[in-house]
This record gives sequence, C-alpha cells and structure tokens, in this order.
Amino acid sequence: LPAPPPELRFEDVTVRFAGLTALGAVSFTVVPGSVHALIGPNGAGKSTCFNVLSGLYRPESGRVRLGDTELTGLAPHRVAALGVARTFQNIVTTEGTVADNLMLGRHALTRAGFAASALRLPGAVREQRAHRERTREIAELTGLGAHFDTPVALLSYGDRKRVEFARALCLEPRVLLLDEPVAGMNGAERDRTAEVIGTVRAQLGLTVLLVEHDMGLVMRLADEVTVLDFGRTVAHGTPDEIRHHPEVLRAYLGT
Ligand code: ADP
Ligand code: MG
Repeated sequence: LPAPPPELRFEDVTVRFAGLTALGAVSFTVVPGSVHALIGPNGAGKSTCFNVLSGLYRPESGRVRLGDTELTGLAPHRVAALGVARTFQNIVTTEGTVADNLMLGRHALTRAGFAASALRLPGAVREQRAHRERTREIAELTGLGAHFDTPVALLSYGDRKRVEFARALCLEPRVLLLDEPVAGMNGAERDRTAEVIGTVRAQLGLTVLLVEHDMGLVMRLADEVTVLDFGRTVAHGTPDEIRHHPEVLRAYLGT
C-alpha cells in the first residue's frame, strides 16, 4: 500500500449566501484512509462542504487543512494538484469513449501535455502510452474494463456514473470526494458501485469522503459518519452509533 494520506480537517467553516447560513462553523476530522460519510437532509450543507474543500467556494471564516497544508482559498486546480479529487452530484458524461474520459482525468498529471503529444514528440508519446496503460488499470478496477473503448453514450446510467468515479481516480488522489455516487441507480448498479468503492479504497489506500442519501450504502461502507442539519454538525460517530442517535432521528424524521 502507498503511504497513508494526510488527515483532512474542517475547522469552524462558515459559508453564507445572501443571509442564508449554508455552513455555520462546521468542524470535523476525517481519519486518513477511512471512508467518512457526510449525511443530512436536503439543504443541510453537504455539497457546500465539498465545494469549500475543492476550492469552488471560499468560506467566510474557518479553515480546511490536509495534513499541514492549508487548502482554504486555493483555486480548484491547486487543490486537485494536492491530491483531492471529486465527483459532482447530478453530472454524468455523455461524450467520448470511456478511455477518452479517463485520459481527460489525467490531464492535470501530464507534464508534456496534450499539445506535445499531438506533435508526436518521442517523450510525450511514451508518456501518453504510460497514461493510457494506467487508465486501463483504473477502468479494470472500477468494473469498466470491458467498456474501455465504448462511447459512454452507449453505456447504462450506472456505468456512466461510474465513469465519473473512475475519472476522479485518474488524478491519483489521496482524498476522494464522492457526491451521491449511487443516486438514480437501480439496486444491482448500487451493489456493484458499493463493491467498487470498497475495492478501490482497499487497493489504493485513499481517504474517501462520501455524501450519500442511501443509508444502506452509508452503513455498509462508512467507518465514521458526520451528520449535518441546517449547516450545523448535529452528530458524529460510527454508523451504529448514528443510527440510533436522537438528533439524527429528529433531523430525518422531524420529530
Ligand atoms: P445539500 O448538499 O446538503 O443538499 P447544499 O450544500 O447544496 O445542501 O446547500 C446548503 C444550502 O446552501 C441550501 O439552502 C442551498 O440552497 C444553499 N446554497 C448552496 N449553494 C448555493 C449558492 N451557490 N448560492 C446560494 N445558495 C446556495
Ligand atoms: Mg447536495
């Protein structure tokens, strides 16, 4: 296994939109190499946490740190270069083959760049070949090996959504953010994706921060769970502790 990724910490992160407090001093710590689920009702602030972490939103106050590195305020490409990759809620690819999409995911890693390879400079061609081999490995790991040269438009919804996941992995991240990875999938696709997330985590040893409404998936995959409600952390614990937590029942059931 590669060296364990650094600890990821949210410290008193506050985000406001025109008077609405999306996150009110949210703090939590993600144990390196663990699967940490972020759950809570719609509008709780889960995607906002991802947007702060990946550099899309700048918090009004508070910090996000990865080990000793402060991520707060860094541009998205800088955060990605530090090994934080993400998938987006509600986005699935429709263009190109699986291979094309995975190569795009490696763009940030290609030193010579795509322009040089188009000119067929020898070093660039070698580098492209290595990248293509690695994308094939990642396709195998994510259950897309048989579809490597298939246009994504011809894949099932579940496979297309897993292309997003595979593309994020192509960045060779130390931290992977998954925003509702099984949303819209049928039962079989969910099972397959859960299995793939488990395999990837075990084989690549990365930290996974998971936003998901499917409690079955959360219970199955997460080591720890943080519960958000109206931009506040209302509970934190193992899946078993969370399941019976009064604040969680209140947030979900409104009792
Ligand atoms: P979740 O992912 O938990 O459903 P979000 O993080 O998407 O919740 O949203 C939290 C709150 O912040 C919601 O009330 C949402 O409407 C608001 N919000 C999120 N992003 C923006 C934005 N860019 N502009 C205005 N309000 C936003
Ligand atoms: Mg969301």
